[in-house]
Amino acid sequence: MSLTPDTRQAVVIGAGLSGSAVAHSLALRGWSVTVLDQAEGVGAGASGLPAGLAAPHVSPDDNVLSRITRAGVKATLERAQALLHSGTDWALTGVLEHNLAGKRRLPSDASDHHSTPASAAAVAAAGLPPDTPALWHAQAGWIRPRQLVAAQLQTPGVQVRWGQQVKGIERVGAEWVVTDAQGQILAQSPWLVVASAFDSLALLRPLPSFAVPLNPLRGQISFGHMHDLNESQRQLLPPFPVNGHGSFISGVPTPEGTPGWFIGSTFERNCEQAPVRAEDHEANQVRLATLLPALGHAMAHQFKPDQVQGWAGLRCTLPNRLPAVGPIDPQRLPGLCLSTGMGARGISLAVLCGELLAAQLNKEALPLETALAKHLAAERYVQPNTQR
Ligand SMILES: Cc1cc2nc3c(=O)[nH]c(=O)nc-3n(C[C@H](O)[C@H](O)[C@H](O)COP(=O)(O)OP(=O)(O)OC[C@H]3O[C@@H](n4cnc5c(N)ncnc54)[C@H](O)[C@@H]3O)c2cc1C
Repeated sequence: MSLTPDTRQAVVIGAGLSGSAVAHSLALRGWSVTVLDQAEGVGAGASGLPAGLAAPHVSPDDNVLSRITRAGVKATLERAQALLHSGTDWALTGVLEHNLAGKRRLPSDASDHHSTPASAAAVAAAGLPPDTPALWHAQAGWIRPRQLVAAQLQTPGVQVRWGQQVKGIERVGAEWVVTDAQGQILAQSPWLVVASAFDSLALLRPLPSFAVPLNPLRGQISFGHMHDLNESQRQLLPPFPVNGHGSFISGVPTPEGTPGWFIGSTFERNCEQAPVRAEDHEANQVRLATLLPALGHAMAHQFKPDQVQGWAGLRCTLPNRLPAVGPIDPQRLPGLCLSTGMGARGISLAVLCGELLAAQLNKEALPLETALAKHLAAERYVQPNTQR
């Protein structure tokens, strides 16, 4: 499709990290973007996570996932730097990875990766014994996803319409028409980006030539307020986030705005609802005791039902842990694109995916190597028996 002012218009379904990142990247390039979300405000889906990490995956062979997450974390940190307030919305703290199973190994040439074996000082600062195997990710930190979503949606050129539940998508003439449960037209545009996480499945299911195997993966974090911790507990808090068996973050504002601590997350397959569960708090307590044993022991009281708070959401996953991004089938479904399947790494990947999609639509150089971009292509889910 040729790009003219009339065709540089897109409707995006879903105002989470994925949809807001696409909207921001297109609007920066002069597009007019309408974002529709069924919720009444920011953070209804997984992107309502109170706090999470942007941290790279590492592997001895520097595999595709490692290279893509490294590029993704870089893109996210640059976006955070540009749009968010350091210290309250995000922070480039560095992240210590407690290498519990000993399976995280750096490539032999990791000179440009900003990930190194952790120093003795960092291990000690985390309150771990000196012989603890650990990595240090210098280009990593925590982010409050809601703040990033809200900031990306505020980009000039982006219009957000809340309370718009999309039930149908159909190509009529040169446009995609988006309808609600009553068949009323909510929006229409030459370009349509589906970014409604697991719900994307229901919208795309009627398309005969495309089957993206999205799955829900429920997860829960447990959190509490710093002011409920006593002095000896505070002294055990690491000065940076620690991951490796879930992740622990402290000193980050809770949804109420006061500083808090956060440990997560649980993983539950085949669950399409996201209630907060008492047994998941217990699982997170065990997780903390494994990740940071001294702190976990000291904070046991914080997991009592009258103390602990929880937040649960649904990750939307794909089998190879890589999102599906870009045009779905440019010949048979022109103008229809996807950005979903962020799994447990939406903070690290959604910004890069938004940039990738915008670069593809604008026929620009891609923000990552073509070979890596192919691993993210939504087109990989075009059904083989219907492929051209
Ligand atoms: C417990 C937990 C911990 C996590 N921790 C981390 C972490 O530390 N680091 C990290 O990188 N990632 C983490 N993640 C993953 C990250 O939160 C997700 O990958 C990311 O938020 C997904 O963003 P999204 O925009 O694709 O989906 P969502 O945020 O779910 O957004 C989808 C949006 O689509 C809307 N929608 C759905 N259906 C429709 C419809 N029919 N019509 C209109 N609107 C619709 C929803 O209201 C929602 O706003 C975690 C996730 C969970 C659950």
